[in-house]
Amino acid sequence: MIIVMKKNATEAELEAVKDAIIRLGYKPHAIQGVERTVIGAVGHEDKTPLQILEQTEGVEAVIPILKPWKLVSRDIKPERSVVDVDGVIIGGKEITIIAGPCSVESEEQIIETAQAVRAAGAKILRGGAYKPRTSPYAFQGLEITGLKLLAQARSLTGLKIVTEIVSVSEIDLICEYSDMIQIGARNCQNYALLKRVGQTRLPVLLKRGMATTVKEFLMSAEYIMSQGNYQVVLCERGIRTFEDSTRFTLDLNCVPVLNELTHLPVIVDPSHGTGNWRYVTPMGRAAIAAGADGLTVEVHPNPREAFSDGPQSLKPEKFTEFMSEVRKIALAMGRDLAIPKI
Ligand code: PEP
Ligand code: MN
Repeated sequence: MIIVMKKNATEAELEAVKDAIIRLGYKPHAIQGVERTVIGAVGHEDKTPLQILEQTEGVEAVIPILKPWKLVSRDIKPERSVVDVDGVIIGGKEITIIAGPCSVESEEQIIETAQAVRAAGAKILRGGAYKPRTSPYAFQGLEITGLKLLAQARSLTGLKIVTEIVSVSEIDLICEYSDMIQIGARNCQNYALLKRVGQTRLPVLLKRGMATTVKEFLMSAEYIMSQGNYQVVLCERGIRTFEDSTRFTLDLNCVPVLNELTHLPVIVDPSHGTGNWRYVTPMGRAAIAAGADGLTVEVHPNPREAFSDGPQSLKPEKFTEFMSEVRKIALAMGRDLAIPKI
């Protein structure tokens, strides 16, 4: 249910409505809109009807949310949300670029990459310290050493960092070192992990599962938000289809679909979505044209030697070209993308 407060409702009236929602057995989520506050009341639908709140001071209307996703829905918040990654905004006029290696491999590799992507205009450095690999024998990540190297790269470059969590047991360490938590495709429907990350207040980059429908993807975001963490960015990264000329099929349809169904920012990962560095720039351009708020891209100083995902990683000089190509589309779309002058 959405409890729409009157434009002139007082703070005390808002608090009283929240208390009443709790007494009726639901959880209140206050969402500040441009003109008024609405409260999402979520819980098991077999509880006492909330219509009774229509008589409460300060309440304008009580409206049911018919879709299974509630807090992520545009019904509750028609205007778009922005996510603030320690000062870097995702979902504003500016297109946000996240770039870095698939895995953090060494001090030299992460610092060199961080400096290169920063010089080209990226705002957030990516790099896995805990890697979810298909083979148990493949490189699993540097773990805490990797987190420390990311933090070192942040202090040298000023970039914010995002890194993947693969299990609940790493949550405290990742919150200590990272500015944003990535939930990878393989964990998109790991509900225990989604709930735990929802209990933190760190922004979350939620990647779509490779066999997850848009509706299921939205329900995964709802898991995070249901715990009170509203800082969620959705990321399309390619889905499994019969097509095998690319690693995955980048489902750019989902960008306008998500933009219609949810107020959350949407970004696209053309690296995993194609699996081939040669297709990263064209699909990055296409994603921005489709309405994405940003891109996450793999960059490695020496892709041939990369411990993971070398074939889809751009070299730093290719990343610089990528940025200027994407910028053209961003400007055509009425967005901004600042590229530092060399
Ligand atoms: C990654 O970002 O390196 C990664 C493992 O991505 P995905 O979860 O989309 O496969
Ligand atoms: Mn990767």
